[in-house]
Amino acid sequence: MSDCIFCKIATRAFPTSFRYEDDQVVAFDDIHPAAETHILIIPKQHLEKISDMQETDRPLMGHLLFAAKKIAEELDIPGYKLSLNVGPEGGQVVMHVHLHLLAGKMSNPAGEVG
Ligand code: AMP
Ligand code: ZN
Repeated sequence: MSDCIFCKIATRAFPTSFRYEDDQVVAFDDIHPAAETHILIIPKQHLEKISDMQETDRPLMGHLLFAAKKIAEELDIPGYKLSLNVGPEGGQVVMHVHLHLLAGKMSNPAGEVG
């Protein structure tokens, strides 16, 4: 998707410092952090939203979740919140699937993002 900011980040067309990268996902700091630690983990492959997921996306979504666990371990974060906004009605603004990893002091008590 040529006009998708997260595709641009994933392909390094938009320079961003990665917290984590493997063959399927990348992770980077949220530009407007809602918590002390606020990392976005995204698939390299463009998928608009979780509700568009197909059966074939199942392993990739598991991989996304596993990457969150690995990042938290690498950063020595004992507990955290994982959040996924699905569709504009669910608070999703950037239409490329992303998992929010939030830890430490949150800027709102529910740790809501989006
Ligand atoms: P959502 O509301 O779930 O779609 O969240 C989108 C998130 O992407 C927001 O928390 C934004 O602050 C974040 N965001 C948007 N553009 C960028 C960017 N260029 N780099 C890092 N984070 C971004
Ligand atoms: Zn995209």
